[in-house]
Amino acid sequence: MRIAVYPGSFDPFTNGHLDILERSLKMFDKLIVAVLINPNKNSLFASSKRIEMIEKVSAKMENVEVSQFDGLLVDFCKKVGACSVIRGLRAVSDYEYELQLATINKQLAPDLETIFLMSSAHCSFLSSSIVKEIARYGGNIEPLVPANVGEELKKVFNTKFTLKKKPA
Ligand code: ADP
Repeated sequence: MRIAVYPGSFDPFTNGHLDILERSLKMFDKLIVAVLINPNKNSLFASSKRIEMIEKVSAKMENVEVSQFDGLLVDFCKKVGACSVIRGLRAVSDYEYELQLATINKQLAPDLETIFLMSSAHCSFLSSSIVKEIARYGGNIEPLVPANVGEELKKVFNTKFTLKKKPA
């Protein structure tokens, strides 16, 4: 069974993440979305909430599991029996960090391959940070995130933020 891990902060999970998840599912028997618990990172959503949101998004997808990890990614991959790590690449700006990560992981675990998927054109500008900024100031994030994530963002930015309908 070919298992891949798709790691990230997912704070929160966007349509860009969903695009990568759906496309990588075609290549593997099982995908584990692994939410990074990083106490040094100032996240908007607790890891338990991030996991809950991704579980809802992937509820109807077969062969997707949502998990969390801290410590080394390579150790988590070994534990779950994964042969690959999936990462998304948007712009050149992603490249340097991703190269560093993939190279270090290769050194730590030579059998583990990192697979990069280029972002689909309609998601290439999309990041969790951008979504949070738009939501914070009451902009329409409906086209950018799954519906349940939009609802959670609405709750967080309660007073300022309303979900607007897309024009017909
Ligand atoms: P991290 O904190 O590890 O960068 P993110 O949650 O920001 O985690 O992203 C997880 C992975 O998803 C990364 O590989 C990132 O490049 C990728 N990703 C994020 N947004 C997009 C997008 N819009 N299109 C393609 N890949 C994306």
